[in-house]
Amino acid sequence: MFAVETTATAAYIVAALLFILALAGLSKHETSKVGNTFGIAGMTIALVATVVLALGRDIEPLGLGLLLGAMAVGAAIGLWRARIVEMTGMPELIALLHSFVGLAAVLVGWNGYLHVEAHPDGEEAVLLDAAGMLGIHSAEVFIGVFIGAVTFTGSIVANLKLSARMKSSPLMLPGKNAINIGALLVFFALTVWFVIDPHLWLLAAVTVLALLLGWHLVASIGGGDMPVVVSMLNSYSGWAAAASGFLLGNDLLIITGALVGSSGAYLSYIMCKAMNRSFISVIAGGFGIEAGPAEDKDYGEHREITAEAVAELLDSADSVIITPGYGMAVAQAQYGVAELTRKLRERGVNVRFGIHPVAGRLPGHMNVLLAEAKVPYDIVLEMDEINDDFAETSVVLVIGANDTVNPAAADDPGSPIAGMPVLTVWNAENVIVFKRSMASGYAGVQNPLFFRENTQMLFGDAKDRVDAINAALPVREKSERASSGSR
Ligand code: NDP
Repeated sequence: MFAVETTATAAYIVAALLFILALAGLSKHETSKVGNTFGIAGMTIALVATVVLALGRDIEPLGLGLLLGAMAVGAAIGLWRARIVEMTGMPELIALLHSFVGLAAVLVGWNGYLHVEAHPDGEEAVLLDAAGMLGIHSAEVFIGVFIGAVTFTGSIVANLKLSARMKSSPLMLPGKNAINIGALLVFFALTVWFVIDPHLWLLAAVTVLALLLGWHLVASIGGGDMPVVVSMLNSYSGWAAAASGFLLGNDLLIITGALVGSSGAYLSYIMCKAMNRSFISVIAGGFGIEAGPAEDKDYGEHREITAEAVAELLDSADSVIITPGYGMAVAQAQYGVAELTRKLRERGVNVRFGIHPVAGRLPGHMNVLLAEAKVPYDIVLEMDEINDDFAETSVVLVIGANDTVNPAAADDPGSPIAGMPVLTVWNAENVIVFKRSMASGYAGVQNPLFFRENTQMLFGDAKDRVDAINAALPVREKSERASSGSR
């Protein structure tokens, strides 16, 4: 038995190291596949060690059957979902997975209560009491259930918003800040009460309170801030797992939870800085943000252009910047875009890409798609690297992007996305916007860019339109352009 425990502890340390290597690998494109492999290896070792540990502790056949059955069902569902999920559906799947972690933490907490506090004269409660640890156990149960329940409903709301089954605009209940602060104060008071006198009704009360708070926190956040919410829920799910680790006495769960919790919190912080948002405001459910006036502004008429006319414009351009967004991902237009890039570069046109930190539906979404279509890395630039260059650019192709190129963020202090840094595409000589209609983007905000004098709309599916431009662009080599002296 001692040998089994020692081997499992050693395996847990190896798994924890592999998880740290996985995080390090995932921080760069070039090493991300290796990072993933480390993560898979770590998780496999952790699962095997857990089963071996259970066998070493003389688990009953029914328990073992349930454990293996749950692993088989979980693995089958995981494999199935991972195979069918579209790239654009990743954030909602991730949000759903976070909700499972939250639910698991709630169940582990309740289980802890039913084993210990519910039987004050039972063996475990007496042992913990004698060691002066009963109060700590009760606090672990209560806090674990609270974090888990907030994560559970918060992640469900995030899933519903990301999959467009719930409006992306923020819920503006009167006194919403007071509701959030009040709920936190009640939680602190109930925690003290539960540690002193652990009653079942207190645990039930905090579960309901946390479920409602999680729902309200995420429902109160508007569409444009959802990227931060997803990484924040990632962080919460880590803390929920760490809380379960304390209750179960499982060191690996504590380490893994802390890794996920802290890396998620740091990612949320970086994203808040990139989007000029207050970190506290976002994690506190839009704290301090008030509803802006309803939008009924008349921006005038928009102008349309054909694919053939865009091909002509590109044929005479010196420099082109492409700013892709969610629509390019939906249309799967990246291969046509890569082809267009190649053709233009062969003609000597300086083609570059401008990538907004939250373009698409997950961090790095556009970079992954462009890398998949073999667009060279060195012409794919971050927003800060390219924003000053739009003024010297002949043509900007806005392919399925909307919120990330919205001038209202810079010009209109009353806009729900005010203050969010955007790609300043409107400074270019010509702006072509590829989309299917005049509909707004994810944040549900109208985009004045579409009505500017230097903007023309190319309506239709982004893939079809890019293919039509590729077809209309005459084949011409760099040398031919130089000799024609067209520029
Ligand atoms: P948006 O979501 O603002 O807009 C995408 C545009 O693409 C729409 O206006 C839509 O217009 C158009 N579109 C959709 N399908 C097609 C198609 N087949 N062909 C052509 N156009 C199409 O995109 P952005 O990338 O600019 O902004 C991302 C938004 O998502 C931000 O608000 C961000 O906060 C949010 N978000 C980002 C996350 C992240 O981590 N990156 C996570 C969660 C949310 P139409 O319907 O008229 O075609």
